[in-house]
Amino acid sequence: MFNTKTVSMRSKIVAGNWKMNNDCNETKNLVKGIRKAIKRLPLKNTRALVAPTFVNLTTAIKRAKKSKVEVVAQNMHQENSGAFTGEISADMLKSIGVKTVIVGHSERRSLFGETDEILAEKVNKAIEKGLEVIFCFGEQLEDRKANNHFTVVQNQLEKGLFHLEAIAWNQIVLAYEHVWAIGTGETASPEQAQEMHAFIRKLVQEKHTTSVADNTSILYGGSVKPSNAQEIFSKPDVDGGLIGGASLKVEDFKAIIKAI
Ligand code: PEP
Repeated sequence: MFNTKTVSMRSKIVAGNWKMNNDCNETKNLVKGIRKAIKRLPLKNTRALVAPTFVNLTTAIKRAKKSKVEVVAQNMHQENSGAFTGEISADMLKSIGVKTVIVGHSERRSLFGETDEILAEKVNKAIEKGLEVIFCFGEQLEDRKANNHFTVVQNQLEKGLFHLEAIAWNQIVLAYEHVWAIGTGETASPEQAQEMHAFIRKLVQEKHTTSVADNTSILYGGSVKPSNAQEIFSKPDVDGGLIGGASLKVEDFKAIIKAI
C-alpha cells in the first residue's frame, strides 16, 4: 500500500464526460440545469467541468458564461491543420474559448486506435498551445486479474506524459480510470482507488519533485455516482472524478459535486 500526505494546493475537480450524447437543445438544458444547481454551492478550490460533443461546444460555452461551469473538449487532433477529415485542432478549440481538453479516454484508445505514441503527440500539441490536458489512462480487467495493473499504468504514464518538463505539469490533470469500471456499474473499492492514486502520485514525485506531485490533481473515473462518490472522494489522493453516465442528469451531477 502506498501512502502520501494530503496537500490542498491542487484543485478538486468533477468533470462530466458527455460522450456522444445530447443534441443542441439537450446541451442547452443540461448546462442551464447544472449552472443553476451549483450556483449556490460553495465551490472553494473545486472546479465543475462538462465535456459536450464538439458540435455543441459553442452552445455550451454560451450557456455557461459567467457561471461556475467550465466547458471542455473530449478530444483534439495532434496536427495544427490540414487534410485530416473530421478532426478538430487545438487552435480551433481555443478560438471558441475552450481551455481544457480530455486526451486518451479509454474509448479513444480502444475504439479509435489511439496509441500511447499518438497520445504523446496530442499532449505535446495541447501543451504547446497552452491548453490544459485531462490525461486518461488505466488498466483493463485482465491486467488487474494478472496483477499487472501497476505496470500497465506506469507504462501509459511513461509513454504519454513522462517526457514532459516539470513546468508543463501545471497544465496536466490525471484521470485514472479502470477500464473495467467504465459504464459497467462496477467501481473499484475506495481503497483500490487510493492505492493506485498514491502509486501514481509517487511516480510523478520520482519523475519530478514532491511539489509537482502534490500540485497535480488525480481524478478517479469509473461508474462514480451519488451513492459512492463521497467515499471515493474521501481518499487523500483522490482529487475528484471523471464522470460519464451520472453527469448526464443534473441531480446526480450536483450530488457528486456536493460529495467533494
Ligand atoms: C468515463 O467515460 O470516463 C466514465 C467514467 O464513465 P462512467 O462514469 O459512465 O463509468
